[in-house]
Amino acid sequence: MFPYTPRKYQAEILDLFRTTLHNRGHLILEAGTGSGKTVCALEPALEFAVENKKRIVYVTRTNAQQKQVIYELRQITKKNKIFGCPLQGRRNLCPLIKDNPELLGGTPEELSKICTDRKRNTLGNDKKGCRYFKKNCTSDISKVFTWTKNNLPTVEELADYCKKRGLCPYEIIKLLINDAILVVAPYIYFFDPFLRQHLLEMMNVGIEDVLLIVDEAHNLPEYARSLKSITLSLNTLKFAEREVSEFGDIETAEKVMVSDFCAEMKKILLRTKNEYVSEEDALIPPDEIESEIMSSFKISSTKLCKIIKNMIIYGELVKEIKRKKGKLPRSYIHSVGAFLLMWTNVDEHYVKIVNSKPEFEIYCLDPSLAAGVVNECFSSSHMSGTLLPLDEYRDSVGLPSATRMFSFPSPFPEENRKIFFVDDVTTRYEELSKDEAVIKKLETYIKNICNSFQRNIIVFFPSFELMKKMNISLNKNLYVEGQGMHQQELMNMIESFKLQKGGVLFSVAGGRISEGIDFPGKTLEIAVLVGLPYPKPTAKHKALQNYYDIKFGKGWEYTVRAPAIRKTLQCIGRLIRDENDKAAAVILDKRARHFRKQLDLNETKNVVKDLQTFFNS
Ligand code: SF4
Repeated sequence: MFPYTPRKYQAEILDLFRTTLHNRGHLILEAGTGSGKTVCALEPALEFAVENKKRIVYVTRTNAQQKQVIYELRQITKKNKIFGCPLQGRRNLCPLIKDNPELLGGTPEELSKICTDRKRNTLGNDKKGCRYFKKNCTSDISKVFTWTKNNLPTVEELADYCKKRGLCPYEIIKLLINDAILVVAPYIYFFDPFLRQHLLEMMNVGIEDVLLIVDEAHNLPEYARSLKSITLSLNTLKFAEREVSEFGDIETAEKVMVSDFCAEMKKILLRTKNEYVSEEDALIPPDEIESEIMSSFKISSTKLCKIIKNMIIYGELVKEIKRKKGKLPRSYIHSVGAFLLMWTNVDEHYVKIVNSKPEFEIYCLDPSLAAGVVNECFSSSHMSGTLLPLDEYRDSVGLPSATRMFSFPSPFPEENRKIFFVDDVTTRYEELSKDEAVIKKLETYIKNICNSFQRNIIVFFPSFELMKKMNISLNKNLYVEGQGMHQQELMNMIESFKLQKGGVLFSVAGGRISEGIDFPGKTLEIAVLVGLPYPKPTAKHKALQNYYDIKFGKGWEYTVRAPAIRKTLQCIGRLIRDENDKAAAVILDKRARHFRKQLDLNETKNVVKDLQTFFNS
């Protein structure tokens, strides 16, 4: 069913996927941009799933990647019809939620409850029902099924089709998934236990019959850590106090009122931040906060447990009242209780942190706690353009030592890409903070490169913080990625940049642009990396390094060096998307020489001249 003439390395890659499936194993694959990983993973999986009555869950990080899988599915199944379906959450698909700012901020669980209520009300002919669900129930939706199975739409195309007919796309997809051999879903649908159970139920399959494909897998370890981490902010405590004024104060235990408890927690949070945090964050000794609470209220640990449990129960009641009013079933009192329940029960896989925002944070150090579920699948394949060192990925995710690991180089001509580095600047944290002249030098490099070429250039900074510090005036159209920029605004800006002939875009390494956007042909010809994107030495990061030292004996290599290499390669990977692209990268950091093994580096003493020579050659 392979729809193309195989390119360089594709026959070998296809073979790897096939043998992994037949051996019921796990595969980690690094293959450069343009090697056609998606189609190489998909075709053998579809063949195997059909022959052996298995189902495929293909998880992606972005909508663009999800679309790519659907496009490849259409190519593969041109002759043999196999049905595959994209899935996204209610936040993207529910037409009622889309127009409601309050509901748009809801978690999948909260939105699921809202949806269940609306559907129930619809069946009872209540005004608070859902007109889209009603249309699903009263019209002939078999036509939608036929159209979907014939056209294999992307999630946007299906949503559009349903919108024109007044139908609910989410409910349609839920029904369609039962027939799908392949489901393409965001990471959260597989790695969040609540959503995974929901997905497997919709698919009507056990996890042991799932062939899992993880796309852009380099994201998974950090994603898994964040899924298991949780914060308690000053705002949450303030909202909890507001909830008390709205729903009434109660005594939790030992004459401690909810309002008093929240007020005291606010004080403890601020006091802890002032005492421990000098820059970004700090570790808190294991029982410090519990002891503070107990001494403030003069209570025992048993009473503290009782207070926490009662707050959770009260929070559940608040949620129920809100739910009955058709509001988002959220309780901040519940959030405070749930956070403290976890805080008082964490083990050695977590650390307790206070940061400058201020927030308390329970940070998960071990991604395998959320990602290790991949071992329950029939087989799993993990692929990305940047996964080195592969053993770090295997160990972090918790895959078995027998996991097959392979790395393939870029299939495109080597001479079309040049990587330069300069030897007289760095963004090393200690040097940057001490020496203002380093910033000036970096600014001069950026100005000279950007102003000397009528080519599209992206400047990748290691952080938004450093980007803001720079004072750079350019005689060019300048585009700047803002921190937390809305997705649509970001996409519009990128499309406008791509149309330029000599535009400059300021972005960050490890961000949405460096990780997932294609810049084919002349839409991008030079990438400037302002320093190497080493992680900031925060308390959280040091704890992670220490944990990996204890667990694998490779703290620095796994948590400092590996992420920096991956982020660098992701930025450079934007440049060459096919065999005709010609482009160059410049790394403004002397530490780049440590990456000689991973990058074909050329030191330059005159970067503008060397770039000109390369483009004229
Ligand atoms: S049935 Fe569909 S449209 Fe109605 S609330 Fe649920 S997701 Fe939204």
